[in-house]
Amino acid sequence: MTPQSTHAHPVYPTLLSPLDVHGITLRNRILMGSMHVGLEEEWGQLERLAAFFGARARGGVGLIVTGGISPNWAGMLKPFAAKMSNRYEAWKHRVVTDEVHRHGGLICLQILHAGRYGYTPWNVAPSALKSPITPFKPRELSTRSVRGTIADFTRAAQLAQAAGYDGVEIMGSEGYLINQFLVTRTNKRTDQWGGAYENRMRFATEIVSSVRKAVGDRFLIIFRLSLLDLVEEGSTWEEVVQLAHRLEEAGVSIINTGIGWHEARVPTIATMVPRGAFAWVTEKIRKEVSVPTVTSNRINMPELAESILAEQKADLVSMARPLLADPDWVEKAQKQEAQLINTCIGCNQACLDLVFQNKKASCLVNPQACNEEELEILQTAAPRTIAVVGAGPAGLAFSTIAAQRGHQVTLFEKSETIGGQFTIAARIPGKGEFLETLRYYTERLKQTGVNVRLGTIATVEDLTEYDHVVVCTGVQPRIPKIPGVEGPNVVTYLDVLSGRVEIGESAAIIGAGGIGFDVADYLTAPHGMGESASIEEYLEEWGIDTEGAARGGLRSPEKVESPRTIYLCQRKTGKLGANLGKTTGWIHRTTLKNRGVTFLPGCTYTGITENGLSIEKDGEHQELAVDHVILCAGQLSENALVAPLREKGRTVHQLGGADLAAELDARRAIDQGTRLAISID
Ligand code: NAP
Ligand code: SF4
Repeated sequence: MTPQSTHAHPVYPTLLSPLDVHGITLRNRILMGSMHVGLEEEWGQLERLAAFFGARARGGVGLIVTGGISPNWAGMLKPFAAKMSNRYEAWKHRVVTDEVHRHGGLICLQILHAGRYGYTPWNVAPSALKSPITPFKPRELSTRSVRGTIADFTRAAQLAQAAGYDGVEIMGSEGYLINQFLVTRTNKRTDQWGGAYENRMRFATEIVSSVRKAVGDRFLIIFRLSLLDLVEEGSTWEEVVQLAHRLEEAGVSIINTGIGWHEARVPTIATMVPRGAFAWVTEKIRKEVSVPTVTSNRINMPELAESILAEQKADLVSMARPLLADPDWVEKAQKQEAQLINTCIGCNQACLDLVFQNKKASCLVNPQACNEEELEILQTAAPRTIAVVGAGPAGLAFSTIAAQRGHQVTLFEKSETIGGQFTIAARIPGKGEFLETLRYYTERLKQTGVNVRLGTIATVEDLTEYDHVVVCTGVQPRIPKIPGVEGPNVVTYLDVLSGRVEIGESAAIIGAGGIGFDVADYLTAPHGMGESASIEEYLEEWGIDTEGAARGGLRSPEKVESPRTIYLCQRKTGKLGANLGKTTGWIHRTTLKNRGVTFLPGCTYTGITENGLSIEKDGEHQELAVDHVILCAGQLSENALVAPLREKGRTVHQLGGADLAAELDARRAIDQGTRLAISID
């Protein structure tokens, strides 16, 4: 990263301008938001965490906030989670702060007390009320323990300072302990920490004033303030504003935006949330305070970030996942190479979904994230000629990295565009972000000099001269053996999503995996097929109050009128969509239920006629009278080239769906392509 110029940047003058806070200069307005990546608590993994944050600091991020670290034993997110409560724990963090500072960055430690969200039998809370998303009922903190917890926050901040951190972020949102004190939903206390709002907010304000007293002036204190709780009995807007004023008086340096408790049933960061959907609420709080404010959620490209800041909706933008997806995001903006940014698509599939399964995070579009050392891209000592067949995610990831390493890569694609089924998936409402990945690869193919042969069906003869052949020919829809399946009213998901057929007013979908859900979403979208919701439509559909009139910012959602009658069927008797993403499956189920889609588990398909689909369910025969039957029954690998090439003695590799159709997803495809490209010689 080139040193920050004192002149305004020609394209992103606000985003890339420095900001002075509490005597500390941030080199730009980009804050890497807190996100647990699973390296925080693994013994001996802080070196890897240092490499991860170091790569983001080298890429130009102004200020980094770590994943949440508990101030004490009781506040841990899970057993043996990271905490900052003694000198030894602080000393271990030196490697992280040194690495970030070496690259000219700044870093704050997030202090997070999980409260009743702690996945431990020893968790605590303002009141002994179990959360709907954790199995352990918390113990109520005694009045004395509340004081002790404030002291623990203070000690954690002092230790962070000793470890070389430039500040702390105090996690006051997302439904964690501080947030639990603020609202009557979780605080039923009758002592000086409960009852009137003055009492409920005391815990938050006393933490901030105690920390400020302990750390002195030249140390950042960011407070993550829940601007919208999105749960019943959440804070009113007046309460949020009152707290913001008190936090300022107590000595915060920056107010960051928190949206939604973890138990809220409103999507706030997933792909279907429109970009920049919550900048309006940061703008509201910004008008109330004098300290800088940070806006957050679904900001992933510099144009949007610049426009939010230029319109004075916030002073900084927070991005966590976009910097997982591309550590050089800021540098690319600085060099006016936004077209080369590997954009976060908001899928959660390789980051939050894994973290919530106690696994290390990475990124679907960037498997190097959190694997910086293992997946380093090095020049090859032995350049080879490599043919790649198929320009879906696996072929694209492989081709660009292999070419970057110095191999001579020719990429064959039978259609006139790159992307394979990814292009079709981009037509699902809210999945338009997939087009960003295709834009990225289009640019990367040019940058790395891959010889791209679109509209070319590669034959065995075309491929015999290459040192390696990499087959990424993808999948074909599986056609299940059901009487009548060859009828004119039976179509595949590809027919529907590519627009080859127009679906009538009613349809039965066979197969309720990711694609069955996507097709149902596509056909019932109230804003039109293939269209993503606007910010207004999204806020309306999920009942988010922008007027500040409803507690927690939540009112009854609008009734959604679906344009079609849809039956979503599967043979298994369990819950539909059981294998969807851990953090997004509930959103897909809720969306379809709100639109009146009928879920039919435990079906036996007995036949298809011109009148529709016949099923046996719970021992009874049912006729689903529908215009179309849509097959979303999984896929079969398309790998006809492999055997003949092997017979000719060629070195053949299979990637993505061509390798394994079951459980195919873009995450595995890109990961496989990346790993092979890094190892092939
Ligand atoms: P899938 O998740 O494997 O689902 C296939 C569905 O077809 C299942 O519901 C299965 O349920 C049914 N099925 C399988 N064989 C059948 C047969 N012979 N006859 C009738 N039904 C049959 O596959 P997919 O939906 O095609 O998705 C492909 C991949 O893309 C998945 O790995 C998925 O993770 C990924 N993807 C994910 C998302 C997302 O998370 N939002 C979206 C799109 C795609 P029964 O056997 O119970 O009938
Ligand atoms: Fe973004 Fe998906 Fe990568 Fe997570 S896995 S950082 S949501 S692209």
